[in-house]
Amino acid sequence: MSTLPAPLELPTRLLHGPGPSPVPESVLAALAKPTIGHMDPEFMRVMNEVREMLQAVFETENQMTLACSGTGSAGAEMVALNLVEPGDRCLVCVHGVFGGRFAEKCRRAGGEVTTIEAEWGQAFDQAEVIARIHELQPKLVMIVHAETSTGVLQPIDQLADAAHQHDALLVVDCVTSLGGLPVRVDHHGIDAAFSGTQKCLSCPPGLAPVTLSERAMHRVTNRKSPVRSWYLDLSLVGNYWTGSRAYHHTAPVNMNYALHESLRLILEEGLDARYERHQSAHQLLKQQLEQRDFAYASDPEHSLPMLNLIRVPEEVADEAAVRRQLLTEHGIEIGGGLGKFAGVCWRVGLMGHGAREANVSAIVEALDAVMPAN
Ligand SMILES: *Cc1c(COP(=O)(O)O)cnc(C)c1O
Repeated sequence: MSTLPAPLELPTRLLHGPGPSPVPESVLAALAKPTIGHMDPEFMRVMNEVREMLQAVFETENQMTLACSGTGSAGAEMVALNLVEPGDRCLVCVHGVFGGRFAEKCRRAGGEVTTIEAEWGQAFDQAEVIARIHELQPKLVMIVHAETSTGVLQPIDQLADAAHQHDALLVVDCVTSLGGLPVRVDHHGIDAAFSGTQKCLSCPPGLAPVTLSERAMHRVTNRKSPVRSWYLDLSLVGNYWTGSRAYHHTAPVNMNYALHESLRLILEEGLDARYERHQSAHQLLKQQLEQRDFAYASDPEHSLPMLNLIRVPEEVADEAAVRRQLLTEHGIEIGGGLGKFAGVCWRVGLMGHGAREANVSAIVEALDAVMPAN
């Protein structure tokens, strides 16, 4: 190295892509508190409080509720690897990138995976999923609640009964929904749900909240073969979080401080007030965008409040250049399209702390400044 880099200087961005989302000052302050040991009784207290607050946000009494080390994808992998054994039939609903990724995780766990697909931008008709559950009689059914690649909110309230009739577990990807939409794990009969800290929880990326029902844990404790990951094995990690407290791996101590503070802020605001705030910010943005002839690419009946999927207008020749200009000239990040929507859609996130009127105005003003004049 010829010269030592200068200490970090970073711009302040308005984060309005598909995550990470804006992080409140008090969460950053929590992150900067003194690191203590991962076996320190004071840290055990932090973990207990994180678990209790996660139970409140997931709306569950599940004992096995914890913050998995790693991002949302690690949480997804923890669920897939612990619940799927070689040869297990899995039914995975794919209506965007993230369903497809979960299918791949189940395959790597040795599962025999059947996927069903819905058109991108559309939600599944639950009756269709239920029919496939009866037909296939899988051991696991998986669906994405808030598809961040398509902006679709998937109704999930009718699936558990059909799954449980065949002793299948219902797994739901709540990475983008948790903290921005009601997830209601116990009410909907969800057996396993996972999320990530950097979407509607408004915390930096690094932890994945995970919750498993007793039915799911029964599957884990009665496995015939060991989990194909040592790091994500719930019988080991679970012990550290909820059991004997035996050392497994060093918990990301400061990230847990940050999650603690972000969950505290959520519960202080109140879940309903928070969901309401996401809805009203979305309605305002939608109205402002539609006035400017932007079209949504997601089914209007099933559009997510926290992720607005809009078509890139035809007059825009280079969509990436427009996003770059938003970032460098206005300090605003929005997301490009993912998968089938790459190059043709933009993803405007209104997640967590960023779901506010002032942020909507900043986004719209910046768009007005960078869009080619009609
Ligand atoms: C972001 C996201 C993930 C992956 O989470 P990472 O934190 O990027 O690992 C999974 N599912 C959905 C729906 C997401 O939005």
